[in-house]
Amino acid sequence: YQTAGRGRRGRQWLSPFAGQLIFSFYWTIDPKKALDGLSLVIGLAIAEALNAKVKWPNDVLLLGRKLGGILVEIINNKNGLLNLVVGIGINVKLPQSTEISQPYAQLTEQDPNIDRETILIKVIQRIYSRLAQFEEKGIDEEFIQQWINHNEFFGDEVNVFTEQGAISGIEQGIDKRGYLKVITDEGERYFNAGEVSLRRK
Ligand code: ATP
Repeated sequence: YQTAGRGRRGRQWLSPFAGQLIFSFYWTIDPKKALDGLSLVIGLAIAEALNAKVKWPNDVLLLGRKLGGILVEIINNKNGLLNLVVGIGINVKLPQSTEISQPYAQLTEQDPNIDRETILIKVIQRIYSRLAQFEEKGIDEEFIQQWINHNEFFGDEVNVFTEQGAISGIEQGIDKRGYLKVITDEGERYFNAGEVSLRRK
């Protein structure tokens, strides 16, 4: 369990006793490389490993509900590299009393006899392979296409909540920077993950 799990922008991540696969790993990246899109890479890798879906930027969904969360943080280590700590939480089976502020899913819904070790190995292998590809090629066409294939909201009417208010449109996946693409009444708009939240309308 985790007592002070965090989501994006100070939100809470709940991780009750024995309820999740919850782990962090350390990774370094060449500081000259663009980090844009990195958290999408982890999200897609997990979705691929678990036969699940993604919601931009990096939620993992099962049956339309939130199965897992990802938090990528940069830590200071004077080695000339970008030092990342990637934290991942995936619900396996949560106690019924868990109160989460949005609909959530758990892996036992997919398979009641789920084996954590098997899942962990699959997830890590997929993440490492996607990270290696990302370091070599960034967000390329293959990635964009695979991301769209796993995209829960593709073609749906969505609201993008920004600090200036909500913007509505049709979700159209991502671009080469990993930005969200939305067709609005005023034309195409692109959003950076740091600034906004996406919800289905
Ligand atoms: P965004 O779409 O902007 O990322 P988010 O609400 O999904 O928004 P995150 O920071 O990704 O935000 O995750 C934190 C949120 O995840 C919490 O506010 C809560 O609603 C939800 N949450 C917390 N614990 C769990 C859990 N174990 N399983 C599923 N969802 C959870």
